[in-house]
Amino acid sequence: MATATTVMEPNVKISATKLLINGQWVNSASGKTFPSINPSTGEELARIAEADAADVDKAVSAARAAFEKGPWRKMTASQRGNLMFKLADLIEKNLDELAQLEALDNGKPYSVARGADLPLTIACYRYYAGWADKLQGKTIPVNGNYFTYTKHEPVGVVAQIIPWNFPLLMQAWKLGPALATGCTVVMKPAEQTPLSALRVGELALEAGFPPGVLNLLPGYGPTAGAALARHMDVDKVAFTGSTEVGHLVMKAAAESNLKRVTLELGGKSPNIVFADADMDKAIEGSHFALFFNQGQCCCAGSRTFVEDKVYDEFVERSAARAKKRTVGNPFDKNTEQGPQVDQEQFTKVMGYIDSGKQQAKLMAGGNRVGDKGFFIEPTVFSDVKDDMKIAQEEIFGPVMSILRFKDISEVVERANKSLYGLAAAVWTQDITKAHAIADNVRAGTVWVNCYDVFDAAAPFGGFKQSGIGRELGEYGLANYTEVKTVTIKL
Ligand code: ADP
Repeated sequence: MATATTVMEPNVKISATKLLINGQWVNSASGKTFPSINPSTGEELARIAEADAADVDKAVSAARAAFEKGPWRKMTASQRGNLMFKLADLIEKNLDELAQLEALDNGKPYSVARGADLPLTIACYRYYAGWADKLQGKTIPVNGNYFTYTKHEPVGVVAQIIPWNFPLLMQAWKLGPALATGCTVVMKPAEQTPLSALRVGELALEAGFPPGVLNLLPGYGPTAGAALARHMDVDKVAFTGSTEVGHLVMKAAAESNLKRVTLELGGKSPNIVFADADMDKAIEGSHFALFFNQGQCCCAGSRTFVEDKVYDEFVERSAARAKKRTVGNPFDKNTEQGPQVDQEQFTKVMGYIDSGKQQAKLMAGGNRVGDKGFFIEPTVFSDVKDDMKIAQEEIFGPVMSILRFKDISEVVERANKSLYGLAAAVWTQDITKAHAIADNVRAGTVWVNCYDVFDAAAPFGGFKQSGIGRELGEYGLANYTEVKTVTIKL
């Protein structure tokens, strides 16, 4: 329960609410605004300028001019890197304010924003700042009297469309490689959570990024987002969000100018617990794998496969753990779980809970918490079967589905029976089993005896319909460059 001593009163001032185009904060061409809602209360936090296609045109021309003519073009790679280091320093200096904005706008616990989102965000900018002057091509030993080398050039004007579950971190994952390689950016933050991304826009101007290098267009997907995806003068679109919208973005790219496309989409990641696992760690780790960030992670361990021999114990202890999870005010330091991000997500998750109640066995939760905001009880279902809706579709909420398995070949086959392939995990003390899972599960990331371990240096992305391309690490840079081959007659 919240007590006066554990609850902090947010004291942040919301300063950035407009569009950032060509280094200026401006109203949208239409003059329209939209509300950013506090999911803990359902109340409006701020009104935000709403970008649409006309603003997209302006921002893309600013980004084009900055790419072709501005000081950004002429800067050395290390100067670019230094600007990024400066931005990271400014984010660090304003860490508390940004953590508050994130908790207010997204609903995640302030302690999590402070302890996880912000440090990972800062590390990501620093990691890619370090890459800026380390991007190099090759010399190629071709036949004949020629000298051939390659250059890695920035792909150009990049559109980046990001989701609401980790607003600052998703912004960093996208901006890091784009800025390091010398691209210019038009970014659309998610309509649910524009505040922290816009504040970073202010910090980028303070750091000294030239006008037009970073443009920010808060607004809705079908208007501003779609206009970016189909724009003829955008060289690449990078999207993170639902698989459904991923299809639309790729289609828009194909039907316009064949802009490069990278996608980081949904998941239904298998989290596999063998009987020989350290059970305390497996239970706590699987709880974290699903419930972290209110269950709003594309890589959530949302199919918990548990070996027959320990199934009953695992279910009972996981349900007990879920019942103990503290749900409430994101500014209470005891809170583990805040509200879902908005009414739409809340309704969708409650729908999946209803479906689970009809098909599986409810072991914990299953209800709304309170009557204000979008809080949901940590919910656990056992006796879940592969063909149930809750085992197949991405719920994106605090709903754990526990499935039973007998042996390794069976669980590999069932784990792979999904249109997704984002992540997977295995809990075992047997290194052979761990490798068998790591080798045979078709997923972009496999965690062994851990979950949600992220590092700016380690690539992340999906097999199958979980995405195209990789973010983070050296691999993440390739999506932002074009390789140019130069051949000289000697
Ligand atoms: P979610 O369902 O989790 O909100 P979405 O895929 O709808 O995920 O949203 C992720 C991002 O994609 C958001 O910034 C959203 O505004 C944007 N978006 C939604 N629809 C479209 C679209 N048709 N074209 C481009 N972007 C879109």
